This record gives sequence, structure tokens and C-alpha cells, in this order.
Amino acid sequence: MNEAAQGRTPTGRPERRAATTVHGVVIRRSDFRESSRIVACLTRDHGRMVGLAKGAHRADSVFLGKIDFLNEVRATFSADRGGLRLLLRAEAMRERRALREPLRFLAASHLAQLCDFAMPDARPAPDVFDLLVGGLALIERCPPNAIGQVVLGLELRHLEVLGALPDLERCTTCDTPLPDGAFRNEHEPGLVCRAHATLPRLAVGSEVLELLRTLRRTPGRQLPAIAPPVPPRVAAPLLASWFAAATEQRFRLRALLFEHC
Ligand SMILES: [Zn+2]
Repeated sequence: MNEAAQGRTPTGRPERRAATTVHGVVIRRSDFRESSRIVACLTRDHGRMVGLAKGAHRADSVFLGKIDFLNEVRATFSADRGGLRLLLRAEAMRERRALREPLRFLAASHLAQLCDFAMPDARPAPDVFDLLVGGLALIERCPPNAIGQVVLGLELRHLEVLGALPDLERCTTCDTPLPDGAFRNEHEPGLVCRAHATLPRLAVGSEVLELLRTLRRTPGRQLPAIAPPVPPRVAAPLLASWFAAATEQRFRLRALLFEHC
């Protein structure tokens, strides 16, 4: 039962004094003073929630082993009084131990950063949350040699959620279909036909496009099963340019990840 729903006033405004219980994923933790931690969770109904877990470093803490990175938790936060909330209780619903393997850990950490970036504070963001939880499950279970294509597939969905995924089928200038590869112009994310590519032309190979189109139309849980026409790392720089255009961020973990995928 969602306690925020219980805590609404007759006017429908959230009751500020009510505690909030959420289902979330722990995506950041930082030390606070000697014995406490600040914990950030991404949630489906309340966006990003941040709270102070008092005494979380103590050997007898009620939080011990529950608020580990990437755990799915049921967590209760104190009322929003404008400052930092307290994390009152946390129960681990799922620990993703397989993600401790180095390459999976890298992929999962990258996905967590992407979703953290896209997640609003204290507002529902079901598409971002579902991408995170579904993506973590895939990264946890897929064969090791499929991690690269799974991450690319998740990144395409993430760009779509941001509204920043260029048309993969047609020239962004004249709408001509792009059956055999495409071009892009410097500082512009969209794909263009040869006629609309300015010199020097930056080619996007047909196999890279084919990989991206396949990933795009493949349902999430089937991403590990596709046979990529080129190694995922070949397509990775193109997505890096799309992320840079959309977010002005460089997601550093992906460079490391795609050295191995
Ligand atoms: Zn064109």
C-alpha cells in the first residue's frame, strides 16, 4: 500500500507530514559524518528519493546489508519538510549478486547513471524506472558476450525516453529512406542521406545502422539473443554523440565498458 496515497488531504494535495514508503532501487550512497550515509533511490512513483540513513555504518545498524548499491528495496522516508528526509526503514526485496561480476557491474553502474540523470526528483517516472529494473535484470542474466548489445539496446530506449533518439530509417532533412547506411553532420545528431551530408562526410556504416535498427525493434528480453552484424563497440561512438547532444554529459563508464564488448 502506498503511504503517499494514504497521506493525501481532501484537496488531493500530498500531506507533507506523512512518511512515504516506496519501492526503489538504491543507486547512490555517500558517507555522512562518521556513522551515517546518504542514500539515493530511484522509484517508480516518486522519482528520485534521497534520505539520511542514520547510523548506517554501525555494526548493529538496522540498515546493514539492505541498502547496498543496486538493491531493490522497500524503503520508508520521513515526511518532506523541505530539508533532507530521513530514511526510516529499508527492506531488501532483491539483491542482485550476479551484478558484482566486473563487466556486469560496469554495465549496471552505467545504466544506473543514465537513469539517475533522467529521473526527476519526487515525480513519477515509470518509463525510466522500468528501464532501470528491466535493464538490471537483463544485465544480471544475459550471457557475458551479450552484455554489449544489451547495453546498446538499453541506451537506444533511454534516448527514446529522453526524446533524443534520431530517426534511424530516414534522412532527417529530406525524409528519404536510408537503406544502405547514412551520414551525419558534425554537431548535429540526425542521420542524413549523401545529398544532405556536408563535407567532410561522416559515414555511418550500413552494418551499424542494421545493428541499431535490430536492437530498436527487438523486445528487451530478446536483446541477448540477436546476432550483431558488427561488434557493439563499433556502434558505441555514434550513441556517445547522441548522448552528448541530448544531455551535454559524457557517461564515462561506457567507454570502459565498450573496450570489452
Ligand atoms: Zn536527405
